[in-house]
Amino acid sequence: MNKIAIVGGGAAGLMAAITAAKAGADVTVYEHNKSVGKKILASGNGRCNIINTTAYVSDYFGADPDFADYALKSIPFNAFEKFCHSIGLLLDAKDDGRCYPLSNEAKSVVIAFTEAVKEAGVTIFAEDNVTNITQEKEQFVVESSLSKKKYDRVLIATGSEAAPQLGATGDGYDFAKSFGHTIEAPYPSLVQLHIDSEVHHKMAGVKTVADVTLYLNGKPEEKIKGDILFTNYGISGLAILDISQKASSALIEFQHVSVGLNILPQFNRQALSSLLEKLLTAVPHHTLETALSGVISTKIVPHLLKSAKIEPTLPASALNTKQIKKLAHQLQDWRFEITDTHGFKHAEVSGGGISTTQINEKTMESKLVAGLFFAGEVIDIVGRRGGYNFNFAWASGMLAGKAMA
Ligand SMILES: Cc1cc2nc3c(=O)[nH]c(=O)nc-3n(C[C@H](O)[C@H](O)[C@H](O)COP(=O)(O)OP(=O)(O)OC[C@H]3O[C@@H](n4cnc5c(N)ncnc54)[C@H](O)[C@@H]3O)c2cc1C
Repeated sequence: MNKIAIVGGGAAGLMAAITAAKAGADVTVYEHNKSVGKKILASGNGRCNIINTTAYVSDYFGADPDFADYALKSIPFNAFEKFCHSIGLLLDAKDDGRCYPLSNEAKSVVIAFTEAVKEAGVTIFAEDNVTNITQEKEQFVVESSLSKKKYDRVLIATGSEAAPQLGATGDGYDFAKSFGHTIEAPYPSLVQLHIDSEVHHKMAGVKTVADVTLYLNGKPEEKIKGDILFTNYGISGLAILDISQKASSALIEFQHVSVGLNILPQFNRQALSSLLEKLLTAVPHHTLETALSGVISTKIVPHLLKSAKIEPTLPASALNTKQIKKLAHQLQDWRFEITDTHGFKHAEVSGGGISTTQINEKTMESKLVAGLFFAGEVIDIVGRRGGYNFNFAWASGMLAGKAMA
């Protein structure tokens, strides 16, 4: 019977533990938090977007997203749902592919996995921090804050550095490096962005729906429609989290990153210009600031006008056609320079991680060290928002669990 240590009691580690123990292995999970599954508990705003019913490699980022293909195909949604039923967890798949526990509570997921792990006979060492992993002949020595034990196989499922307040560490990278593995530079992903401007903080708290275009070195890279929220440090909202994946990765490569906001995406440019012209003609004696208060948030108007170098106190009648076109342009392509992300503390996930070139995509075993495995976010694979990160954590955990046993 193979003696297996799993470092990290998150989604990947728990799935691997259940799979390996059910296949007859003697499994121990090390988790330095008080209990397992803390990130699962915090996920999806407490609802846990547990999986996406359709996940393709195009939903992932990394040096080689194709690495995830075998894992994703090995556990399609139907198989995952069947597995969840077998551990007492019912799912609620939405039309857009996002799937939640039927209870709508992340806690149900943690309870189901914790009970399944217990039932499979897995030993859990909670509040036990793994500090070192070494190899002695054919075996691995796992040193932790409470013990030093030998195993035939080790799975590193320590996740990424995103959300350290939930127990996240970069320890997995250090363990992997000590065995000769390469790490693709980690970067915060699904995260708010910092802006360099004189106006964003003055609009802090304003939320609207916009078309957001990400520009890398001045060229449009990605366009997403959704919520944006101005904050003291910059900009947040679901559309921003979505573009943050490419923005953050570009920032660590020192590319010039900016966003263009179209805060009136329902009009084409010409229609908007003639609409503004009609509006300003209807109220010629109003100041521009007052005239535009019927169009967009009053908290935005003066800053938008100043950014377009138009004086807000001018009468509506003072704008000529060229200036009206300029105003329409500003409303639909308001550019802000992105200087940074809001950091790992606020990120949902991390890009980068252990290079996929040194991992067997079918077993998750190291190509450098037999018996050493990896699963989940510690690997250089990160998904879009929408359950995709759990897709890869469950799938890679299951493959590793099978192969280790
Ligand atoms: C706020 C938030 C919301 C999210 N919502 C969603 C969502 O709805 N859907 C989705 O798909 N993804 C979501 N994610 C991302 C998702 O949670 C992760 O991608 C997923 O949990 C990764 O699983 P993992 O097992 O690889 O890592 P983790 O779940 O992070 O598990 C790693 C475990 O290892 C432990 N550990 C680390 N170092 C050590 C050590 N040295 N010794 C012992 N233990 C250690 C950690 O405490 C942790 O429990 C969210 C993330 C956050 C932060």
